Amino acid sequence: MTSYNGKCHCGQTAWTAKLPEATTILCHCDTCKLLSGGSYTLNQIIPKDDVKVTQGDLKAYVYKGDSGKGVNCYYCPNCTSHAYHVKEAMPDKAVIMTVLLDGGKDFKPVAEIYGKAKMSWEPESAQTFETMPPS
Ligand SMILES: [Zn+2]
Ligand SMILES: [Zn+2]
Repeated sequence: MTSYNGKCHCGQTAWTAKLPEATTILCHCDTCKLLSGGSYTLNQIIPKDDVKVTQGDLKAYVYKGDSGKGVNCYYCPNCTSHAYHVKEAMPDKAVIMTVLLDGGKDFKPVAEIYGKAKMSWEPESAQTFETMPPS
């Protein structure tokens, strides 16, 4: 378990996240495209208690997820960088955006989810699931 520092683009907010390993999951869902402006997001699902905001206050944007329940997206109110999401469908977990963590750009992909929404020109970098991996 290693603790990583994360920060937003403007530096007004910062947080730490404990990760069991330096890996990441690519999410190709359409919501991630709209929220990030990119073709996918890089994240890892960890216990919510392992995320701590250490500077500033993140604001929550709430939308309805696939489950029909709310998803809270915590972001910097100044620059809009998304730090992590908490789904009401799994309230003890946080979906932490790994690329905003120190060293996160080098985390290796271990899975790709929502492959059904993947853009046709994207190469495969890890095992790809249509939606979520079978639990
Ligand atoms: Zn910011
Ligand atoms: Zn997504």
